Amino acid sequence: MAHVVILGGGVGGVAMAYEMREQARRDDTITLISDRDHFQFTPSNPWVAVGWRAPDRIRVPLAEPLARKRIEFLPYAAERLDPEHSKIVLANGETVAYDYLVIATGPELAFDEIEGFGPESVGGHTVSICTTDHAAEAKAAFDRFVENPGPVVIGAVQGASCFGPAYEFAFILDTELKRRRIRDRVPITFVTSEPYIGHMGLDGVGNSKGLIEAAFRERDIKWVINAKVERFRTNGLDVVEVDEDGAEKKRRQLESRFTMMLPAFRGIAPLQNIDGLVNPRGFVLTDRHQRNEAFPNIFSVGVCIAIPPVGRTPVPVGVPKTGFMIESMVSATARNIRQLMEGRDPTHEATWNAICLADFGDTGMAFLAMPQIPPRNVNWTGSGKWVHLAKIGFEKYFIHKVRRGLTVPSYEKLALDLIGAHKVRR
Ligand SMILES: Cc1cc2nc3c(=O)[nH]c(=O)nc-3n(C[C@H](O)[C@H](O)[C@H](O)COP(=O)(O)OP(=O)(O)OC[C@H]3O[C@@H](n4cnc5c(N)ncnc54)[C@H](O)[C@@H]3O)c2cc1C
Repeated sequence: MAHVVILGGGVGGVAMAYEMREQARRDDTITLISDRDHFQFTPSNPWVAVGWRAPDRIRVPLAEPLARKRIEFLPYAAERLDPEHSKIVLANGETVAYDYLVIATGPELAFDEIEGFGPESVGGHTVSICTTDHAAEAKAAFDRFVENPGPVVIGAVQGASCFGPAYEFAFILDTELKRRRIRDRVPITFVTSEPYIGHMGLDGVGNSKGLIEAAFRERDIKWVINAKVERFRTNGLDVVEVDEDGAEKKRRQLESRFTMMLPAFRGIAPLQNIDGLVNPRGFVLTDRHQRNEAFPNIFSVGVCIAIPPVGRTPVPVGVPKTGFMIESMVSATARNIRQLMEGRDPTHEATWNAICLADFGDTGMAFLAMPQIPPRNVNWTGSGKWVHLAKIGFEKYFIHKVRRGLTVPSYEKLALDLIGAHKVRR
């Protein structure tokens, strides 16, 4: 009988554990290893940062739901991976051997690549919404900020790949500041490495450029594109704006009393420099079956996999890996591992469709890219209050699934039905 180990207890890892349990044979052992004892629903972090969600509402302790599904749980960080011998060394000194490994460790946040970057807890001058702990820290900074409001900078730095939450946070902040009747005292600037507003690492989706620019104008949000941040200061940041050939065009010193920019991502430390397993930034190399060629008993899903950028941009940007895509990677991986257990070749592939719901607090925008990488069969954007409601619905649905140990294949279908029904109504 086989031992399948899943490394990482986030959006990809937890879904993977449940789906693997369903696909595995009765006597196979499934183990989830995670450096946190709980799951956190990362897409809700922007709401935590402005106080619309308490952190505990989006966290789920994992021990009980995993035990109910007969999934072993080791709540310790992996410190070293030894793929030659199919072993993982954990922070508690334990060594875990596996027959199949699925790496779902998400991103390491590369704050150290820019001076002064990162939340106070890592010694920086900015706030972060990348983890729920960071978002809770951002809420404390936000509470101090509203006592003494001033200019704000939101955005994503050079090498970032996750742009949706930056846009979302700019709009959420606008809504919250209006509710507090202090928006008139807060000039907001969106600073991004993207070559145009709405590029999102995907060369745009439908009319994302036009829609987001229009929404920025309506909400008095200024923007700077093709931006590289040189350093973050206590009360601002130094930015170099480049032209389309990447040559320096303008230097700006921006004042900001509350700064949130998405960092570049890289693979976690225990994965770095393993020849054949990862690329130079530590992202796991996978084939179209989510399988690593050098170590064929290793699969990977989620933000930690390597995907090449969509074309060249003046400032480097990466490709986002969003929830729906990740779930399709999970489904394919579980089925492929089952095929291997039965001595067959893996045949399942992820759909690579991207659906992104960006909440603005009162309304929102939806992006549907099928497939994610252009040219596409479907390239659609929509907006309205229904997006805000759909986002709340997905949060509840996902957290419910984690608590109850439900598997995910209907998730993407649900979203497609929802957007499809909305389109038909119009
Ligand atoms: C702020 C934000 C908002 C987002 N919003 C959306 C959205 O609205 N819609 C959408 O589709 N996508 C969104 N995304 C993108 C993506 O869906 C999420 O980042 C998602 O959480 C990625 O899932 P993952 O499993 O790859 O990584 P994660 O969810 O980050 O999970 C990684 C797991 O690995 C664990 N881990 C890390 N290191 C170790 C170690 N050494 N040992 C053991 N365990 C370890 C972590 O604790 C974590 O549990 C958002 C991303 C961010 C940052």
